[in-house]
Amino acid sequence: MTLAHIQGQPRAIATLLRALSGRRLHHAYLFAGPDGVGKSLTARAMAGALLCHAPAADGDACGRCSACIRAADGAHPDLHVLRRKEKESGDGTLEQQIKIEQVRELQQTLSFKSFEGARRVVLILDAERMNPATSNALLKTLEEPGPDTHFVLVSSAPHLLLPTILSRCQRVRFAPLDRSLVAELIADRAGLDRAHADLLAGLAEGSIGKGLALAESALLADREVLIARADDPDGKRHIPQVLELAEDLAAKKAELPLFFQILRTWYRDLLLLNAGVPTDALVHRDLVDRLRTRAAALSQTEVLSRLERINETERGIDGAANTRLSLETLLLRLADR
Ligand SMILES: [Zn+2]
Repeated sequence: MTLAHIQGQPRAIATLLRALSGRRLHHAYLFAGPDGVGKSLTARAMAGALLCHAPAADGDACGRCSACIRAADGAHPDLHVLRRKEKESGDGTLEQQIKIEQVRELQQTLSFKSFEGARRVVLILDAERMNPATSNALLKTLEEPGPDTHFVLVSSAPHLLLPTILSRCQRVRFAPLDRSLVAELIADRAGLDRAHADLLAGLAEGSIGKGLALAESALLADREVLIARADDPDGKRHIPQVLELAEDLAAKKAELPLFFQILRTWYRDLLLLNAGVPTDALVHRDLVDRLRTRAAALSQTEVLSRLERINETERGIDGAANTRLSLETLLLRLADR
């Protein structure tokens, strides 16, 4: 995949091609933006363009030479990827942090000449996953990179990087993707019909990665029931059902992020509708009649306070709170009107 193949990030790609073709390359870039919008893919394409033996006039990789093919296979000896390792348990989960030993190993490799006598590229994925000691170790290399050594740091949480690291990097911003593009990609990759993919794309807020993860969730099929139960105008008379829902949800922890996302986007849609935003822009645009009824019944202050409560509850559950109790409290609060 070359830079020209990256979808939905025209500004970032134009910036990079300008730097590549004008030979005004910074030695370190930070690709910053939400998860699942193409940052890592672009970082690999950038590495390809830097290593390519016969780049095009616009600076992009040719995609065909031996350097391009080896870079795409992850087999180029001058392409180094620093990322969190898999845990030893072997269940596919990753370590919390990039380890300082990994940085030291990289530095050792970089202290020798490049294998091909040309450029070297270092990609650092989830770059915010370095503790201060590891970051400081890396900083030495960032401050005095060898000749023709290029760094691309990738992060969805750049505010967690040390300021000294940030100041060494040229930042390239990656925007959330258009809903229609995300829907198209999800429909394509997950083999879903367009209406279903479109709803996922709305819930994923411009992240193809998030959209694909949501496609695996069983909870989505129950969206209407969930909304009807959680945002029930007659909620006070349905307390047993509300408590039952809290119990069900507490037993499906993996589904909770989607539950919160459904609720959050639901109430946000109510705000948007009241602000006169076209229904096309709503996540739950297929439920617009119900949205209209609820938008007429709830004041803006009430909707905002519900949104706040939803976010608070989600943050609390991220900690060690009693999940069922937190969900009960939230749902009873939502039913109390
Ligand atoms: Zn090439």
